[in-house]
Amino acid sequence: MASTTLTAAAVLTAAAGTLTYAALSAQSQLFGPTLIAPAKPNEIALTYDDGPNPSATPHLLEVLARHEVRATFFLIGNFVRQCPALVREIAAAGHLIGNHTTTHPWLAWQSNARIREELSACNKSLEDTLGAPVHYFRPPHGARRPYVLHTARELGLIPVQWNILAGDWKPVDAATIAARVTRGIAHNRRRNRASNIVLHDGGSLNLGAPRTPTVEATDQLLRTYIPGGTKFVTLASWI
Ligand SMILES: [Zn+2]
Repeated sequence: MASTTLTAAAVLTAAAGTLTYAALSAQSQLFGPTLIAPAKPNEIALTYDDGPNPSATPHLLEVLARHEVRATFFLIGNFVRQCPALVREIAAAGHLIGNHTTTHPWLAWQSNARIREELSACNKSLEDTLGAPVHYFRPPHGARRPYVLHTARELGLIPVQWNILAGDWKPVDAATIAARVTRGIAHNRRRNRASNIVLHDGGSLNLGAPRTPTVEATDQLLRTYIPGGTKFVTLASWI
């Protein structure tokens, strides 16, 4: 009896663990396919979440332009409404823009109605601002459940995760961010994978988050990898 109970408890624990993994792990495909990175170890996609941010995005755009590199920006709908000119500037520079919801909630724990509203309202903010449809979506925190991915696809959005996280939403210096990313790239290359790097030019709580270290780390990484022949791409080139 005791052992049956223990076995049942173990099975439940394992099932809960699997669900948590599927909902939160960046690379799990259990809840449906997401774009991460192809077998192109010489390619890197720089992606920036939680913008637009007037305190950091313009500086970041300068750095990317100086190196003639295009990146991908996952924008928060509420911030898009507050900074439409900056959003148009990102697009005009040739960068790819994606949906990062309207208010940045943990979608895995939200109702179906809230999930649909978060995605569709952000799409509308972006489309009103850019005059063009949006095709990519990254769930905040990578948190998802099958309905999230299903709704994204229904709205014409390809769900995107990542394979390098630099932890730059916390106070950290540029050298630390660059070192974490460099380790991640080496790891992905050993596995014959491209690198899909999450950085942050904004902060999800409000506009104006200090992101100078992220901008400086971007410059350091581009100075290191471009001379070595690495190709920097947007996520659109992996579809
Ligand atoms: Zn985010």
